[in-house]
Amino acid sequence: MKQVRIGLIGTGYMGKAHTIAYRTASAVFPLSGEIVCEMLAEVDTQLAAARAGEFGFKRSTGDWQTLVSDPDIDVVDICAPNFLHKEMALAAIAAGKYVYSEKPLALNAADALEMTEAAEAAGVTTLVGFNYMKNPTVQLAKEIISNGEIGDVVHFRGTFNEDYLADEQLPFTWRLQRKFSGSGTLGDMGSHIINMEEFIVSPITQVCADLQTVHRQRPLPDQPGSTGTVENDDQAHMMVRFANGAIGTLESSRIAWGRKNGLWFEVTGTRGSLIYDQERLSELQLYTADDASNRQGFRRILTGPEHPDYAHFCVSAGHGLGFNDMKAVEVRDLIEGILTDNPMWPDFRAAYEVNRLQDAVEQSHAEGRWITLNRHE
Ligand code: NAD
Repeated sequence: MKQVRIGLIGTGYMGKAHTIAYRTASAVFPLSGEIVCEMLAEVDTQLAAARAGEFGFKRSTGDWQTLVSDPDIDVVDICAPNFLHKEMALAAIAAGKYVYSEKPLALNAADALEMTEAAEAAGVTTLVGFNYMKNPTVQLAKEIISNGEIGDVVHFRGTFNEDYLADEQLPFTWRLQRKFSGSGTLGDMGSHIINMEEFIVSPITQVCADLQTVHRQRPLPDQPGSTGTVENDDQAHMMVRFANGAIGTLESSRIAWGRKNGLWFEVTGTRGSLIYDQERLSELQLYTADDASNRQGFRRILTGPEHPDYAHFCVSAGHGLGFNDMKAVEVRDLIEGILTDNPMWPDFRAAYEVNRLQDAVEQSHAEGRWITLNRHE
């Protein structure tokens, strides 16, 4: 049996989610080969060794470059903070590895383009962690739209709001500094709703945007009484136009009290509408104008074995999947893409387009005007 040997860099929130996904995908899907958790890298050898023990990786290192140059690694999986993605990905591409990177791909579009062109020139296959679009419920939404079941799409309204920084007393982190994070909620959660819209409807061609930092100072964790200046956005709003002629609005906030995983969208077509709410991730609300006029209303579809990928997880409808299951679908795409030599999506180029839109949002906000991106269906 063929093997795909993983080299994981970073073992925080996402490093753990990826590790769970390697285990789950192996158990859930009939993969064309075996996933081997070969080596992980962390900031020092002690932490790396401890995490390798916890996560079940065979080897560990305190130096990510050792991992990247190791001949027994096939995939470099980047789960480190945003500012490290570029250096790590370029090194992995130069070493001829497949690259699986967390989002946002880079701090800005220029860096993302450099990474994309390097991967394409080297013929290296890539995948970026926009996991929410892998949900069977979202795949069902795409199928309904693609079949024309709600007619032609005329509007998309999407949010990705959370409250993980709503408390102004929460301490300063790397996510609040431009050199480490790039933009704020725009690149963190906004990138997911941008990718989601482009997956299920159409590329964004024009944007008019507004950004705001509400909590400008936050306590420094290791200096009592001192604060650090927040350098990026807490809230991001976008009016958008799509290549297919539809219009819409996208928003993201990291200070929206009460929203825990508020990726939500409503798609309106000429013959119906659908609504998705990530906090109820195994449900889709569908309204079709084809119903008798005295029976019209949103109906709730619970995803089940008849919908994409669900049957691999569970034989019973309506039992529901979770966040980590979407990562397992993503890992299935990674492993099958590698073993069948097929492209994966969203790859670096698709993620570059998200970075490009983020840059356009910042330009629009700075200049107070619509920005046009030259993009087509
Ligand atoms: P985190 O802070 O929880 O974990 C980052 C890890 O990287 C830490 O364990 C840290 O020690 C390690 N690290 C830092 N520098 C390193 C280096 N030089 N070498 C090796 N390891 C290093 O962060 P996180 O929340 O896991 O975010 C990581 C990435 O995942 C970010 O790009 C973030 O945007 C993305 N992310 C994606 C999702 C998603 O849903 N797809 C969710 C959260 C975060």
